[in-house]
Amino acid sequence: MQTYKGSCHCGAIQFSFEGEPITKGMRCNCSFCSKRGIVVSPYPVPEAQFHINAKEGALSLYQFGKKKAKHYFCRICGIHTFTESPRMLGHCRVNLGCVEGVDTFAMDIELFDGKHLL
Ligand SMILES: [Zn+2]
Repeated sequence: MQTYKGSCHCGAIQFSFEGEPITKGMRCNCSFCSKRGIVVSPYPVPEAQFHINAKEGALSLYQFGKKKAKHYFCRICGIHTFTESPRMLGHCRVNLGCVEGVDTFAMDIELFDGKHLL
């Protein structure tokens, strides 16, 4: 297990989690992810291993469609930080672009067919 630290762009939302070493990322082709173009963690992190430290009022929630997924973002800088997985409640997929020491431009990317599966 490894500890990872992350934050939004302005730093109002800080988070950390413990998980397996991240060697690849995942992209999803659903209507929301394709517009954001982000790379997320290859595994969902259980809430018990996910720690959030946010300035009051910074953490905001966006939901659409069936409203199963909870997409959290920073109200100040607008960066999406993590999503509570619609298929695994209590688990978060993390925006790897927000995670220190992870280079999303230098990793293998797996595709998730969210367009048809979500
Ligand atoms: Zn921010």
